[in-house]
Amino acid sequence: MGWVAHSTTTLSFQLLEIAGREGVSLTTVLTTHHHWDHTRGNAELVHLRPGLAVMGADERISAITRRLAHGEELRFGAIHVRCLLTPGHTTGHMSYFLWEDECLDPPALFSGDALTVAGCGWHLEDTAQQMYQSLAKILGTLPPQTKVFCGHEHTLSNLEFAQKVDPCNNHVQAKLSWAQKRDDDDVPTVPSTLGEEFLYNPFLRVTEDAVREFTGQVAPAQALEVLCRERARFQLALEPSQPQVGALLALQWGLLSTPQKK
Ligand SMILES: [Zn+2]
Repeated sequence: MGWVAHSTTTLSFQLLEIAGREGVSLTTVLTTHHHWDHTRGNAELVHLRPGLAVMGADERISAITRRLAHGEELRFGAIHVRCLLTPGHTTGHMSYFLWEDECLDPPALFSGDALTVAGCGWHLEDTAQQMYQSLAKILGTLPPQTKVFCGHEHTLSNLEFAQKVDPCNNHVQAKLSWAQKRDDDDVPTVPSTLGEEFLYNPFLRVTEDAVREFTGQVAPAQALEVLCRERARFQLALEPSQPQVGALLALQWGLLSTPQKK
């Protein structure tokens, strides 16, 4: 059994419990990128399951045992995994495209922070041009019915930003109303589908008139760069009202001394 990691101490135990209940053994952890909130459980899982393979594309990934290459295909029983290098958020960000033999379900994409519902990881370690390639040429060419499982529930703030970028887009408004209801009911907004993302995610719509107008840029990579900058500014404007949230989270994760991006 493979697992795409977004793990914590508690989750490590929960994960092994689920695997036990399902009668499968955990053999491999597929990690999207090295940020702490995507890798912190790796070392503990290896400790709990000696011999566990930890895979990813970046040597900074905690407890990594094997570097994967773009285009590489892995197989776990009937499940196929294609490794897609999607630099931008980090230089070594890998996304994983999964499908299963003789299964009618649509394929799944574990996109980490490269693509989230209505957004993306806007902190750039790479160039905007690189991120544009990842979003438009690598992820954007997958089948539209692909289910997108991203690493965060940032859907509401992403859609609020999308509304600012693209105020006349009815798909943004509809998805925002839907996400607010999901949030009220305390149920997840993940997954979406890739086809849906093209309707409301400004980071996938950089060639649309509304995004060009908002960014003042015609070239897609430059528009994307402005979007990332504006998204960061938008987040900063949201956060001063609740500065304690970030600090509490950092305390929980034992990270107060080392500010990190996610
Ligand atoms: Zn990240």
